[in-house]
Amino acid sequence: MASGKGSGLSGSVPDCLVCGGCCAWSETWPVLIGARDGEGIPDELIDFDNMRMQSWGHRCAALEGEIGCRVGCSVYRERPLVCREFQAGSEDCRMVRRHFGFETVGAE
Ligand code: SF4
Ligand code: SF4
Repeated sequence: MASGKGSGLSGSVPDCLVCGGCCAWSETWPVLIGARDGEGIPDELIDFDNMRMQSWGHRCAALEGEIGCRVGCSVYRERPLVCREFQAGSEDCRMVRRHFGFETVGAE
């Protein structure tokens, strides 16, 4: 889930708070990079063996709400670096959104 979340972004950038797709995309994502990444996140939400967030299926354990409707990140302020860097509106974002049917091929 990107950090931008609507404010200050153009109208073509999707709203992460009604999406959440990238937070329910893969059980192997998001990973933690380095010892201090994710500092402050409760231990029960971290898979220390694999240095990534704990997940339920493909869904990150920190994701709250219903994807495609209303979502939030319970550790937003401490979220991993890869979550901060994932850009809403990027090609990867669009790919995820198409996977979930949140937008069609070629949609803005
Ligand atoms: S897939 Fe894109 S729009 Fe959806 S939560 Fe992730 S960054 Fe935001
Ligand atoms: S830590 Fe937060 S922003 Fe990152 S995948 Fe999980 S719910 Fe999404």
